[in-house]
Amino acid sequence: MKKRIVLYKRLSDDLMARLREQVEVTWVDTAQADGLARLRDALPGAHGLLGASLRLDASLLDLAPTLEVVASVSVGVDNYDIPELTRRGVMLTNTPDVLTETTADTGFALILATARRVVELANWVRDGHWQANLGPAHFGSDVHGKTLGIIGMGRIGEALARRAAAGFGMRVLYHSQRTKPDVEARYGARQCSLAGLLQQADFVCLTVPLNAATEGLIGARELALMKPEAILVNISRGRVVDEPALIEALRTRRIRAAGLDVFVQEPLSQTSPLLQLDNVVATPHIGSATEETRHAMARCAVDNLLAALAGERPAHLVNEVRGR
Ligand code: NAP
Repeated sequence: MKKRIVLYKRLSDDLMARLREQVEVTWVDTAQADGLARLRDALPGAHGLLGASLRLDASLLDLAPTLEVVASVSVGVDNYDIPELTRRGVMLTNTPDVLTETTADTGFALILATARRVVELANWVRDGHWQANLGPAHFGSDVHGKTLGIIGMGRIGEALARRAAAGFGMRVLYHSQRTKPDVEARYGARQCSLAGLLQQADFVCLTVPLNAATEGLIGARELALMKPEAILVNISRGRVVDEPALIEALRTRRIRAAGLDVFVQEPLSQTSPLLQLDNVVATPHIGSATEETRHAMARCAVDNLLAALAGERPAHLVNEVRGR
């Protein structure tokens, strides 16, 4: 008999067909008002879960005693209680690598958009204000030749470093748990203390995972260390930054601008003060959101899930589950 999985993220037809060859699929649209209730109904007897952006707490896991694997369509796994999954013998898989370059592109899009005021000035043109040549009030700041500070020199951090050094002639500083000799050799990057990076960088880009050590990593004290002309770009997770402190630093022009793809609360509320500030570019968590990359991520998650259910070790296993 086929194993049963609960799918809570839409998949393309080719991936649906592949899944259905191997497993019985119950589809739950968690975006619907009754989505959570439907998920609860579907969990008993499920062997696998595949989706993203769902906080899987113990009360949901209690409903799924036969669960073997949760295949997340994401690289970040901050939504999951990993010790709890491990304790229950449930494998957790993620989708690293396939989204690295696309997310680094998003980081650079935010660097360029904030420095060159792309969104603000494009709206200014659209609103009919372009009546004469621009003056200094509308000038942006250069990106090429500046210093990029990368906090979290992992896969995405390295992809940013490559763009910065090879494409924009930037000096690259980084702060990470471990020194990365390869990255230093390839891109001339230099490891720094967090304070040293904040004091020197023209652009500070966050690419750490969200965990107990990184939650609130950038607060009022850290923002106060940044240069007044510096720009903060967050493509990691909203909670890595103390959002009220950031709003204050942007409002008082303590720092020049912020490019934000991630927020403490997502979707971002229309009443967020961030949306009142002309020195903020806010995007709706689009780090990996291209057709090609989202398809590659979903395929990776399907591969992980099917391998786990076949009794094999999935390629991207996050937790070590005894007996696997
Ligand atoms: P990764 O390869 O694991 O890189 C993260 C790096 O952060 C690691 O290399 C690690 O450093 C470093 N790090 C961890 N804790 C740290 C700390 N306390 N201080 C300084 N550095 C620390 O992961 P990735 O694939 O690059 O992805 C990074 C994160 O980006 C994900 O976890 C996810 O939250 C986020 N993300 C967001 C989007 C989006 O849509 N905006 C898309 C993809 C990913 P060491 O190697 O030195 O230990």
